[in-house]
Order: sequence, then C-alpha cells, then structure tokens
Amino acid sequence: MKNVVSLDIDQTIIDFEAMLERSLSKVSRKMFCEYGISVSKHQLQSERQTVLREFQSACVDMLKIRQISFERILERHNASKQFAASLIEIFATDRFSNVCFMPGALDFLRKASQAHNIVAITNGNSDPRLLGFGEFFEHVVLGEKFPFKKPDVRIFSEALSHMNAGDPKHAVHIGDSLENDVLGANESGMVSVWYNPHRYENKTNISPRFEVRDFEELYTILQKIKR
Ligand SMILES: [Mg+2]
Repeated sequence: MKNVVSLDIDQTIIDFEAMLERSLSKVSRKMFCEYGISVSKHQLQSERQTVLREFQSACVDMLKIRQISFERILERHNASKQFAASLIEIFATDRFSNVCFMPGALDFLRKASQAHNIVAITNGNSDPRLLGFGEFFEHVVLGEKFPFKKPDVRIFSEALSHMNAGDPKHAVHIGDSLENDVLGANESGMVSVWYNPHRYENKTNISPRFEVRDFEELYTILQKIKR
C-alpha cells in the first residue's frame, strides 16, 4: 500500500520568497513608471501584512488581500485605486509563472509521485495546479479556503480525509516550518519531517521525527518507512 506523503509548498517545494520578490519588483516598477509613486518591495509587503492581519482567520482570497493593499497605497498617494486592477494582473501573472523550485524538488516530485500518494498543504495560495506542477499531487489543500491554517490539526485531517490514509501514523508531512509543519504533523499523529536546507538550529521545543537537509535524504527516509 502506498504511503501518504504530505508536502508544504512555500520554501519546501518552491522558493516562494525569490518568486515573491520578483513579482513585487515588477509592481514597484510599474507604480513608479506609470503612476510616479515610489514604493519599495518592503513597503508593498508590509502593507499586505497589515491588511492580512485585519482579515485574520477568515477564509480569504490571498489575491484579494494583495489587491486591497495596492489600493490603499494608491489612495495614500492620491492616485486612483482603479489602478490596482492592472497592478494585481501584473502581480498574479508573474506570481504564478516561472516557478523557482528548491534544489532537487522537481526530481523528487517526479520520483516520489510514482511510489507514494502526494498531497499538498499550504497556508498560502501557492497552488501546484496553477504553478504548473499539479500532476504530481492527488489532492491540494489551500489555507485560503479554510478558516483554519497549519498548525491546526483540522487542516491536516482535511488533507488526510481526501487521501484514504487510514491511521495518520502511516502518513508523513514535510515542511520547512517547525511551528506550522512539524508541530501540526506531530499533533495530528503523522510522521513529521523538518526540511532544513540551511541547517538552522532548532531553538524551539518542537521535535521533528526526522530532519533533512535535501530531497535525497528525504527520499531515503520515505523508502525506509514505506509500509
Ligand atoms: Mg513553508
């Protein structure tokens, strides 16, 4: 029987931060060149965080949050908030194109999807199907569709319920965040794997069952615990 392998997406499968930085650069350039507004990538991101906090724990479309943040910046600079529509188009088109994979992640997906049933659990809106690598996943759980996010066990149960996983102890969850991925997997009774390519020190009291530096190590572990 195949194991269920659940994967975080941002900073585990894709280099979301690099991709976001690129998308925000394009928006910042457009704001400056077309509307004469000088706003840094950092300011764009911090405005978005402010808006996100206001909508916390709601089921909310992440692109809608981003659009509201653009509108607020435009209004603050006495520009029409209608411009936000073209900014969001630039942002969304860039955000979901030219995927930047973490090293070895694409090969891992190709190989692992033959031997395991793979599900994605992401708190954001990095949907593998929109990003062009959905074929490796049996199911995708996006945090924006639910009022609860990782580490809430309900989002892990939601994923497992679609996978016919049986006992959660036969399912493995891999992610780069101790607080969201490892804690949530532990509390769900799944096998937790901390993906830690930068070899950060674990300063929390959250203990992953396994810690890996790269996808080769991960693949070896998955082979070992195969039922
Ligand atoms: Mg992550």
